[in-house]
Order: sequence, then structure tokens, then C-alpha cells
Amino acid sequence: ATAPSPSEPGRKTVLVLGGDGFCGWPTALHLSEAGHDVIIVDNLSRRKIDLELECASLTPIASMNERVRVWGDVSGREIRFVRLDVARDYDLLAALLAAERPDAIVHFAEQRAAPYSMKGAREKRYTVDNNVGGTHNLLAAVVESGLAAHTHVVHLGTMGVYGYGTSGGEIPEGYIDVLLPGGRPSKILHPAYPGSVYHATKCLDALLFQFYSRNDGLRVTDLHQGIVWGTNTAATGRDERLINRFDYDGDYGTVLNRFLVQAALDIPLTVYGTGGQTRAFIHISDTAKCVALAIGNPPEAGAPVEIFNQVAETHRVRDLAALVAAKTGVKVANIANPRNEAAENELEVANAKFRSLGYDPVTLEAGLLDEVALAKGDEATLRKLREVLQEQSLSS
Ligand code: NAD
Repeated sequence: ATAPSPSEPGRKTVLVLGGDGFCGWPTALHLSEAGHDVIIVDNLSRRKIDLELECASLTPIASMNERVRVWGDVSGREIRFVRLDVARDYDLLAALLAAERPDAIVHFAEQRAAPYSMKGAREKRYTVDNNVGGTHNLLAAVVESGLAAHTHVVHLGTMGVYGYGTSGGEIPEGYIDVLLPGGRPSKILHPAYPGSVYHATKCLDALLFQFYSRNDGLRVTDLHQGIVWGTNTAATGRDERLINRFDYDGDYGTVLNRFLVQAALDIPLTVYGTGGQTRAFIHISDTAKCVALAIGNPPEAGAPVEIFNQVAETHRVRDLAALVAAKTGVKVANIANPRNEAAENELEVANAKFRSLGYDPVTLEAGLLDEVALAKGDEATLRKLREVLQEQSLSS
């Protein structure tokens, strides 16, 4: 494959940490297609967790080396892949940064399932060590490599740091205006209300960004993302070996993917409790587009950490079930809520910053049927689904 000419306008060298994952892979392709020189860094830990949990992506994902080879063939653009552990291979990471001097680093490389992070002490400790250790290694390596004034760090955070529905009213983009004791006005980080060890690591990440931004002048953008839905993007759809992962297990599968799989099998959609929990959503192709927008609009040197809410729309779980039911004809079944969470919550989210940069999101209403078709797949996929569902008793 031939790399695009280095003189392409706006071309940047971009490291995508966690570029083998659900969000990272389509984002890497999107950035490569836009002409950037993309290097994926991943330790393939997610594929190992699949083995540990005895589950797998519903879609058959190719190996990382095959993925980048096929992308080179279909696009004529080269993506390099470096296998290293961001949380443990500090020296390799620092050497990579010094050699490549990336203009931007997109950081997806974290353990991202809240249920997994709560399984037991082993998983809690792994999630903290991996996520907080990885984020801190990255920030320290940028500084040590003399790149503090050069490299823009773009991190994927979560709407979960705000604590759903705890703020009463619209959730602002990262900061709130307060009066400090004595009446002095100030802008501070929105209080953190993590609901799991995983969410707690994202709150700790946010504090590290504040520190490195103030202390070293690092330019950081933190994207507080909603639940990502959808599987493929225009780029991953270019060849079946570029297909993105689709998680539907009890730890990594989201509520929407559970509904899609149930709809594909024509079994009732299971809504926990009243289904009054409101969640924020964004389509995977919009994740990639928003990251590209963030890369194109770095904060000024010396500016505070930039925070965007990367969200397209919010829905109550019962409304989501009703939407899937209306599109597919399957029934809805309410079951007792196995989770310790508020039965009903409101969620209004500001996303004016991305809107002002021209973000026009894909909505669930418009894109849902493609996903049902993908989950249905062929007879072999349906067979596989039935087997797994029996094991997980998702059909209960
Ligand atoms: P994923 O598990 O599919 O991908 C994460 C990738 O990072 C995997 O390929 C994994 O192997 C890699 N990784 C993890 N630890 C690593 C390490 N120490 N060194 C190198 N590579 C490592 O997860 P995802 O859904 O793509 O999520 C990516 C990021 O986006 C996460 O930080 C997550 O918190 C955030 N996010 C995701 C969602 C969502 O709905 N998927 C929503 C909000 C935020």
C-alpha cells in the first residue's frame, strides 16, 4: 500500500491507542481515509477478555494484521500497527512517541465495561491499574518526549462521570459556574458521581488531565461519550474483513444490542423494571466523525482541558424497546430490575460545541433497521445467537 503524500493539506500523524476495539477501529479507518498518517497501538487485551468470558463478537472480526493489510489493499493507505501495553510498556510507549512525534493521540485504550469492572477484586484492580495507569503513562510520556507543546491528546470519556440524572437539569459540557466560599465566581469541573469502578477510572483520568494541562501546558480534549450503537461505518463496510465488532454478552453488550439480538431471534425484549432509565446514545460513525472534528480543532496552547459531550440523543429504555418493537414486531417483556439503580431518571445533555462544528448526527429512528438486519445475519449467525442466549439466559 502506498501512503498518501505527506504534503496533503491538514495531514497529521495520529496515534490511535485501542485501535483494535469497537470504537477505535472504525475511527482509525475514518482518520486514515481523511488522509492522516494513522498508527494503531493496542495490546489486544480485549480479545483476551473475550476468551476469558467465553464470548465473542457476533460479527467475525479479522486479526489485527489482516485488518490493516486489507485496509491497505482497498484504500491504498497504510495504517501501521504497534502491539504494546499502554499501562505496562512505558519505555516502548515513550520511544514510540519520541520517534513519531504525533500531532494527535486518540486514547481509547481502556477496559470499558462497567459490569466487568465490578465482578470482583481482580477485575476492579485490573480496571484501575489498566485505565488510570495507561492514561498516566501516556501523559508522562508526552511530557518526557518533549511533546507537551506539540501533541494534542484526545481522550474518550463517558457521560457516566456526571452520574445520570443527579444534576437536575441539562448536563453542561464538563464545567459548571459556582461561587466559591467568600462569593468569588469560579468555573470548576462538574462534580464526579461514578457508578462503578470503571466510571471511577474515568473521573480519575479527568483529574490527571486537569493536572497535566495546568502543570505542563498539555492540550487535552476529553470527549464525554454516550452509549455507542451501530456496527459498521462507510469505511468498515468496504470489505467483509474490515467488519467491526458487535458485543452482545452480559458485560460488554449494551442494552440496545441486547434488544437487537432478541429482535433478530423474535423473542420478547427484556426491559428491566419500569424501563424508566434514560441513557444517551451516539452512532459509531458519529463517534469517528466527532473524533476527527476534535482533532481538527485542538484547544489553544495554555487553554484549560476542552470537554465535549459526544452525544446525539437520549432515550428512556422503555421507549427504546418500543422503537425496536415497532420496527420489528417483537413484544416487550418487563422483568424485575437486577441492577441497583434509580428506576426513573431524566437526562438532558448539552452538545452545542459539536453542533457548532457542524455535527449532524445519525438517529436511532433512521438507522435501527440496518442493525436488526445485521444481527439477524444468516442462518449460521442465528444458530450461534440461540446457543449463546441459552447460556446467558437472555431470553428469560
Ligand atoms: P473496546 O474494549 O472495544 O476497545 C478498547 C481497546 O483498547 C481494545 O482493543 C483493547 O485491546 C485496547 N486496550 C485496553 N487496554 C489497553 C492497554 N493497556 N494497552 C493497549 N491497548 C489496550 O472498547 P470501546 O467500546 O471501543 O471503547 C473505547 C473507549 O471509548 C473506552 O475508553 C470507553 O470507555 C469509551 N467509551 C465507549 C463507549 C461505548 O459505548 N462503547 C461509550 C462511552 C465511552
